[in-house]
Amino acid sequence: MNVKRAVENQIEIFNMLKQTKAKDRLSHAYLFYGEQGTGKKEMAYALACIMYCKNGGCLECDVCKTILDGNHMNVDYIGILNNKTAISKEQVLDLQDEFSKTSLVEGTRIYIVDGIDTATQAAQNSLLKFIEEPINQTPTIGIFLANEISNVVNTIRSRCILEHFSSISKEKEIDILEEEGLEELDAILLAIITNNPTEAIELAKDESKKRSHKTT
Ligand SMILES: [Zn+2]
Repeated sequence: MNVKRAVENQIEIFNMLKQTKAKDRLSHAYLFYGEQGTGKKEMAYALACIMYCKNGGCLECDVCKTILDGNHMNVDYIGILNNKTAISKEQVLDLQDEFSKTSLVEGTRIYIVDGIDTATQAAQNSLLKFIEEPINQTPTIGIFLANEISNVVNTIRSRCILEHFSSISKEKEIDILEEEGLEELDAILLAIITNNPTEAIELAKDESKKRSHKTT
């Protein structure tokens, strides 16, 4: 997860969230949607940084680092497990269970649901109550991430602030891949194959593994 780069690519959204926080007007529910690889997950963590960082979301201080490493007590995340294609009802229930316990730390709690569009309607609807009635009176912010917004139930969509994440340009993707150490030609070819830089980097790694096998 390269949060700084994702934030740079979606700087308007980041700045808007920062300003909203400065005015103390953050919503209790956000739905970030757009293609895979547009930085939704990274932005969800960046929003957590904006929430807790004393510098307003520097992405560098100890608090920000704790959040970005996934170790902050107030930030919970569920996403599609490695061998699965969807978020399960159990994961949603576990998350709610976690929130029903009294928080050991003070302040707003954040939960990130990555792949809300893959959950069943029933699982999505069980989250709805959660959005509407924070348990324990603890202020909460829900951040939902979806590749395909049409698969998110209307009742959730209507209660969230929607943020669309647009795909990055091919030029930008090629720049990113070159920064990651790829040769220009490889970067161009990979940018044609996928417009998701993370996926492109994975493909490049796989390819270099294959190559090294051949030579040994
Ligand atoms: Zn910070």
